[in-house]
Amino acid sequence: MKKNSAPPTVVVGGGAAGLFCACQLSAGGVPVLLIEKNAQLGRKLRITGKGRCNLTNDCDSETFLKNVPRNWRFLYSAINAFSTQDTKDYFTALGVPLKTERGARVFPVSDSAHQVADALVQTARAQGVTILQDRVTAIAPADGGYRVETAASGDFFAPQVVVATGGLSYPQTGSDGDGHRFAAALDLPVTACSPSLIPMVVKEPWCKNLMGLSLRNATLTVRDTQKKDRPVFSQLGELLFTHFGVSGPLVLSASGHMEDVPGRYRLQIDLKPGLTAQQLDRRILRDVEENPNKNFSNLLAGLLPQKLIGTVCALSGVPATEKANQLTRAQRAALRDLLKCLPLTFAGFRPIAEAIITRGGVDVRQVQPGSMQIKERPGLYFVGEVLDVDGYTGGFNLQIAFSTAYLAARDILAKRGAGGL
Ligand SMILES: Cc1cc2nc3c(=O)[nH]c(=O)nc-3n(C[C@H](O)[C@H](O)[C@H](O)COP(=O)(O)OP(=O)(O)OC[C@H]3O[C@@H](n4cnc5c(N)ncnc54)[C@H](O)[C@@H]3O)c2cc1C
Repeated sequence: MKKNSAPPTVVVGGGAAGLFCACQLSAGGVPVLLIEKNAQLGRKLRITGKGRCNLTNDCDSETFLKNVPRNWRFLYSAINAFSTQDTKDYFTALGVPLKTERGARVFPVSDSAHQVADALVQTARAQGVTILQDRVTAIAPADGGYRVETAASGDFFAPQVVVATGGLSYPQTGSDGDGHRFAAALDLPVTACSPSLIPMVVKEPWCKNLMGLSLRNATLTVRDTQKKDRPVFSQLGELLFTHFGVSGPLVLSASGHMEDVPGRYRLQIDLKPGLTAQQLDRRILRDVEENPNKNFSNLLAGLLPQKLIGTVCALSGVPATEKANQLTRAQRAALRDLLKCLPLTFAGFRPIAEAIITRGGVDVRQVQPGSMQIKERPGLYFVGEVLDVDGYTGGFNLQIAFSTAYLAARDILAKRGAGGL
């Protein structure tokens, strides 16, 4: 596969974007060399959606773009060229039946991310994609195309190179920033990277005592103290306490709306989202009247998970042994306020390695939005998470990978005069 008369397009990275791009290119008759450093292709794809792969969102393009907090305009052409419906049609045609769940999240009926990854791998192989297990170490302009250098297999010449190396999160899956280094070596700016969709560290030490506690039905509200305490996020869902702070679906979603600035945000957990403050007042009063001789801590057992009782007692300032009928009106009000608004202070995100997604990457101002080709470097494309685009949870990030990869493939097919997409 060294320099020859019909050199293949080289796709660097066999994750969601690279595999999908290779499938599109090979379907159009273009020879493809896919170079992936892991022995297994699509390692990150296989752990998406807790192993179930939320591969897209059943929404229109406008809604999709609303779920991309930064640089959403850049994705306008991509999502219109390859929509969420196109993703569903594509995988269904590959023999992966899909289902739609809460929040319009689309999963394979099998609940198996492996099925999604295997479908792409098998398609790529069946369509003749050459797969090389090696690490690309450099990409340099050469002879009207690019020289792709590898750690163990020598150099390859390619008229087009698609960089699909991912971001910086979950580096154990292979995405450890090589794409950013290739870009920097080619004088392409890379914006600062930070974690997104990430667990949060909080200041309150009592959080540790709640480690392992999962609240399935709580509302998390995040207020921005730099913006007059305006709520930047408020949603009902599931939240998990950890040894460092909070995690779980609600927290990951909230982080997409935040900057990594310790102390900037106040988190409030509504432990009783189904009751208004007034209804909760009445409920507490009723419990007191029905159980006048119960200790305060026993009274709380009817209202809270066991693990929370000690913490709520301590935060309310009411002694655990105080009898229910001795509670003052002010103490009842304090309890109500605590249950409706358990306060936490944001102390920062966990490290980027633990993030679902990397915020930041190759500066999209250098990239043609209609093709993902670098403006000043014909034949060089960046697709997927290596770019400075990221979405909220809900299948939007894999859709970004597919839509951007599609555009690169379409452009290359047109350039090589191959069968159009
Ligand atoms: C735990 C977890 C769960 C997620 N769940 C979802 C979900 O349900 N839905 C959703 O939409 N998004 C989800 N995401 C995000 C989604 O997985 C990513 O956005 C997506 O995988 C990005 O695709 P990519 O192809 O750009 O990068 P990756 O999937 O990271 O693939 C990059 C590939 O390039 C390879 N590579 C890197 N450098 C080199 C090199 N120098 N040479 C050769 N190969 C190289 C890597 O080994 C890797 O295989 C999840 C992420 C994580 C971490």
